[in-house]
Amino acid sequence: MSGNILKSLLQKCVQYCKGGNVKSKRNMAQHKDDVFLQIGDFKVFAWSISGIETSVVVRKPSDGFDCCFDMGYSSRENVKCQSVMISHGHMDHISAVPQHIKKRELLGGKPASYYVPEHLVEDVQELCNTYAKICENSEGLKAPNICGVKQGDRIKLHKGHFAVPFPTVHRVKSQGYIVYSAKKQLNPEFQGLSSKEIGARIRDGENVHTDPVITPEIAFTGDTTFQVFTNEVYDPPPDLFKVKLLIVEATYINDDCNIEERVQQARKWGHIHLSEIYENAELFKDVDNILLIHMSDKYSCRYIQEKVFSNIPEALKGKVHVSTIAKERYL
Ligand SMILES: [Zn+2]
Ligand SMILES: [Zn+2]
Repeated sequence: MSGNILKSLLQKCVQYCKGGNVKSKRNMAQHKDDVFLQIGDFKVFAWSISGIETSVVVRKPSDGFDCCFDMGYSSRENVKCQSVMISHGHMDHISAVPQHIKKRELLGGKPASYYVPEHLVEDVQELCNTYAKICENSEGLKAPNICGVKQGDRIKLHKGHFAVPFPTVHRVKSQGYIVYSAKKQLNPEFQGLSSKEIGARIRDGENVHTDPVITPEIAFTGDTTFQVFTNEVYDPPPDLFKVKLLIVEATYINDDCNIEERVQQARKWGHIHLSEIYENAELFKDVDNILLIHMSDKYSCRYIQEKVFSNIPEALKGKVHVSTIAKERYL
């Protein structure tokens, strides 16, 4: 073996021992970024399979905002989220709360806030205590901030955002969330001033901003029947039909029976059949984007892509997205 070849092999070994070569590191970074779907202004990591695990991270890089919906799986992506809004008590949506708390603690993050339907507060707290006991951790899981929230409450999030829960229709008590941005703007008379001058005016007690402009940004339904969009059970909040990103479950997508049977099958389990969304496409004319999640584990990624994209009604063309990342990772 020539000296040059040996030198090159040794260099590769050193790179490998340091944690992988440059190329694989770049691939890893790229891969991490790729797990987020770009949907309008949002980046979304939607990990979701019906009955298995659901947790959805939404980031809005232009506002520096992020939040997480449901905690059925604690991932590298959602562990960074400070605010977690939980839809209901089924295992696939809530079971990873203690893990999320512990991972944040290990990674040096401050405790997150977990917003849950009011009736679950004590049980989730007890669950965290039980985990601490199992781990023989006398200090418990550090400061789990479990907050009970109900329809109409206003949840203060960060970076000028807040969320409001709304009721959904499932086999157990459940709720979705609408996230709003509240942005103040400069009064027209102050536009054109430097930030130094604006700061001086504020210190002088002048009101330089307008009242906040409230925009419905994101809605998350969690598990629900399609009745969440009709007024058969509750009156849906009007903003549900105006958000920039609607994250909605479509647990069933099969088309091997007639529409009545499909709807019946979905309602029996407290879920939506994709055809209900497509048949009522008009309802979503003012929604910018729809992300479908929570497909049943019995469907392959290919089947999902085929059923979702081959039948899109005209009114929803270009608006519908689907996340199958949780299934892809298992392949
Ligand atoms: Zn579920
Ligand atoms: Zn459920």
